[in-house]
Amino acid sequence: MVSIITRNLTKSFGDTTALDSVSLKIEAGELFFLLGPSGCGKTTLLRHIAGFYTPNSGHLFFDMQEMTHIPAHKRNTAMMFQSYALWPHMTVAKNVAFGLEERKVDKPEIEHRVSAALETVKMSQYAGRRINELSGGQQQRVALARALIVRPQALLLDEPLSNLDAKLRTEMRAEIRRIVKESGLTAVYVTHDRAEALSSADRLAILNKGKIIQVGTPTDVYRNPRSRFVADFIGDTNFIEGTLEGDTSREHLYSIATTHGRFWARLPEGAEPPQRDSRVALSIRPECVQLAPHREPRNTLHGRISDVIYLGDTAQYVLETDGGEKIRIAEMNPTGALSPGDQAVFATAKPDDVLVLDAIPATASPIQ
Ligand code: ATP
Repeated sequence: MVSIITRNLTKSFGDTTALDSVSLKIEAGELFFLLGPSGCGKTTLLRHIAGFYTPNSGHLFFDMQEMTHIPAHKRNTAMMFQSYALWPHMTVAKNVAFGLEERKVDKPEIEHRVSAALETVKMSQYAGRRINELSGGQQQRVALARALIVRPQALLLDEPLSNLDAKLRTEMRAEIRRIVKESGLTAVYVTHDRAEALSSADRLAILNKGKIIQVGTPTDVYRNPRSRFVADFIGDTNFIEGTLEGDTSREHLYSIATTHGRFWARLPEGAEPPQRDSRVALSIRPECVQLAPHREPRNTLHGRISDVIYLGDTAQYVLETDGGEKIRIAEMNPTGALSPGDQAVFATAKPDDVLVLDAIPATASPIQ
């Protein structure tokens, strides 16, 4: 396993800047996710690591070794795509063996490694089956075995689960994590599915318009997004605009004046405090808003429930405030007592669950 380092990696295609001075360190043995909206540069970055693209400027290292201009076939990486690129009429064993046959490895060694790789992905009993006789999930396991058998220094996965249905995706993302960890690989995984990244990553980078916007563990990025863009991209959230009145001098909380009254909120960890009197946006996730019996002196919203989606374990409400804003609320273990209508309610959120972010609206638009 290797660490993968990019330093100011920049790549343009005509007028499009696909990567804009990307600097990143992926630790050896890490399962690292690249997450971002369509066209943000995820695949372009992965292809630079694989060696399919050369940057216009910047550098790429595997550990201490400069790889920027080393061709793909000399990098010892393995790539897995969303279309698994398997040969449909060949057997599973033949497909998995292919990479080693190309490298003229001895036959007994190939047999040994094929059987070990199939065991890792729990496909030993299908060795003699043809690919077109397998389900999508089984084909994906074969593609993983084929990538692993060459003993790559890094495994590169480009939206590997997008052809699978939702249930199989959930199952396979756990399997990919298990296999990557058991094999002791550095793995870089591209997706635009936040649930995939949050559930499986050691760390992740969020990209937008060719730039890295934030890097961190799933909990850190979810709980401490440092911009509206990240808060909105990594999960559902409500934004309320307001003016920063100042530090409340209580447990690092800030006081913000909004049309709903005063809110106390915290800064995301690592964020620079905004200036007093500046416009800010408060981010409050639906699961952090609780219905309340009465108005609190601060952090209170008032309005009517305009929509209810009951899902058994949770319910999703829309609270339409007196000013006409729509606030989404998620309630665990709902009693089902609320229904849309004229019912006036209060809702509140703990200061620790309200984040002070920049006022600039989140734009998840792809590169033009
Ligand atoms: P998606 O999630 O849709 O796959 P992505 O984040 O992987 O998107 P990239 O495929 O890296 O995005 O593309 C980044 C930008 O570079 C896009 O605007 C894309 O149109 C452009 N681009 C990528 N490859 C090429 C190419 N070979 N020629 C011209 N433009 C390209």
